[in-house]
Amino acid sequence: MNPWIAERTASFDSSGIRKVFDLAAKMKNPINLSIGLPDFDVPDEIKQACVDAIHSGKNAYSQTQGIAPLRERLARDIAAEYPGEERGLLITSGTSGGLVLAMLAMINPGDEVIFFDPYFVMYPALVKLAGGIPVPIDTYPDFRMSVEKVAAAITPRTKMILVNSPANPTGVTASEADLKAIAKLAGDNNIALVSDEIYSRFQYDEPFVSPTKFNDQTIVIDGFSKSHAMTGWRVGFVHGPAEIVAAMTKLQQFTFVCAPQPAQWAALKGLDVDLSHHIDDYRQKRDFVVDGLRDHYEFASSGGAFYLFPKAPSHFDSGTTFVENAIANELLIIPGKIFSGRDSHFRISYAATNDTLKRGIEVMKRLANG
Ligand code: PMP
Repeated sequence: MNPWIAERTASFDSSGIRKVFDLAAKMKNPINLSIGLPDFDVPDEIKQACVDAIHSGKNAYSQTQGIAPLRERLARDIAAEYPGEERGLLITSGTSGGLVLAMLAMINPGDEVIFFDPYFVMYPALVKLAGGIPVPIDTYPDFRMSVEKVAAAITPRTKMILVNSPANPTGVTASEADLKAIAKLAGDNNIALVSDEIYSRFQYDEPFVSPTKFNDQTIVIDGFSKSHAMTGWRVGFVHGPAEIVAAMTKLQQFTFVCAPQPAQWAALKGLDVDLSHHIDDYRQKRDFVVDGLRDHYEFASSGGAFYLFPKAPSHFDSGTTFVENAIANELLIIPGKIFSGRDSHFRISYAATNDTLKRGIEVMKRLANG
């Protein structure tokens, strides 16, 4: 290895999802069910707000903590949802920016961070980046957040529990009872609870519940990437205990500096744009895929986000072998091992046109019955 490269960089591989995207670029007419972002474009009003911000000269750095109107608006919404002590608030460079700052602000070398396997790809990498020790909790086959397993994994070094509901890559939504139990467990053991709520608006069967409802010390990380299809605009936000958010703000000053200013004005506009028709659309897509695959695959029901995480049929020796066969049939999906210590499942994103979903289901049915 090049001696200039730090050990922390070598401790994790580059994102396997990027490798699938590279494959996709070489395919003529792929059935692409690999993408982790909405298939609708940024709504026009939001684009216009960004253009207006640029033309009116709002192009400089913003304050580290974000532009005042966006902060005021979010603070009002947050205070209405969680009355009580005022929560600290920081506008970040995407949800990823919030996750990076949370790790750097709270994790000392050797601290353990509990999260659930399957997990969002960044979690173990970011824990290691901060010098922490990832403690993944296996949740197969139902992908439920088991409070018993979390309780059993707690040690004197446990610093943080990281939850994500609705979840990437499973689409599973945690029950209110499980979230409450984990929120209480974290509170009772003085462990930081971080809740990645980037898919909170994509919840199809029951209203979204945040663990903040049961533990007001929860650090919430959220953003506009998925809800407003703004993945490239890099706007997220964090709210939580004032001292923790202040520490993250200090770190933002010396790293990201601020979220892109024009995109922050666009995000402010986005808060007034009604996106419920997209959510209805995604609920229908979820139903369509679940109905199409139910008799052919084993999977936990997807109550949110836009993912399904089925088990590869038993005549394939692993999730990876299954995905290789799918790709040979022009179907692009992601092997489960990218999100997990196990290699038995695969991720489908149903954020795709109905025609693409139909073609994908056909290939998957063929592979299951082959
Ligand atoms: N958390 C989860 C669970 C995600 O799936 C993603 C995006 N795939 C992110 C965070 C990062 O999103 P952002 O674009 O806001 O950085």
